[in-house]
Amino acid sequence: MLESLISRYIFVCTLIIFFGLSSITYAQNQEDMIPEDTEFYEPVPTVIESGENIFLDPPTDAIILFDGTDMSKWETTNGDEVTWNIEDGVLTVDIGDGLTIERIQTKESFGDVQLYLEWRSPMNMDHKGQDRGNSGVFLQSLYEVQVLDAYENPTYINGMAGSIYKQTAPLVNPSNKPGEWESYNISFKAPKFNDDGSLKSPGQVTVIWNGVVIQNNTKILGHTPFIGFPEYNAHGEAPLQLQDHNSEVSFRNIWIRRLDSENQFSIKDHMD
Ligand code: MG
Repeated sequence: MLESLISRYIFVCTLIIFFGLSSITYAQNQEDMIPEDTEFYEPVPTVIESGENIFLDPPTDAIILFDGTDMSKWETTNGDEVTWNIEDGVLTVDIGDGLTIERIQTKESFGDVQLYLEWRSPMNMDHKGQDRGNSGVFLQSLYEVQVLDAYENPTYINGMAGSIYKQTAPLVNPSNKPGEWESYNISFKAPKFNDDGSLKSPGQVTVIWNGVVIQNNTKILGHTPFIGFPEYNAHGEAPLQLQDHNSEVSFRNIWIRRLDSENQFSIKDHMD
């Protein structure tokens, strides 16, 4: 009896030490990681040509975030007025001194949404990889759908345009040439969290790039850092952000729709 109690005690202690140590090791590993640890180059998504009609007008219930003139729905992350350039109905990243990576964000916060926008890479052909036409769409300020020149511009596939940054590569590459407009039509289900902060359900995203599904209800694994693995930290609705990554990427026709799937009718609620 005593022996079995002792052996059970030793077993439980061993478990505690093992899991305690492994979580410490994990934390240290995250700190010791370098960017390359989360960059993968194969398999390269097949290059395809999209159809011709790749642009969408907003439906009547869309919130127009940028109509070609007005940036009143946006602010800097410090709450200041946005100073990106607007010319001929086109919004272009102001790279400033070209040294800092910054973002602009919507004043409004969002949960589940359909987001549509059009973007264009600059003709910076002397730039390579992540340095060519880099911007990004940060859903809820945390989950980046990468914007990058993907035309004959090799980079890690989970960091190319259409990727969930440092997570999931696009299914195919329907990129246009730099200097040509592209469209993203994104539907996003925000992650949900329990009251104790633990993850209830991960975020999910479908991305249609130039009319082509390239993320098909992809599970988001956590935030999208440059260094380290994705992690979730509980949060509520949050602003949409666009990235200034020292590339003069342009945007136009940006609109968003709230998706209220909580109150969507389903027969499943009436089935026993
Ligand atoms: Mg980016």
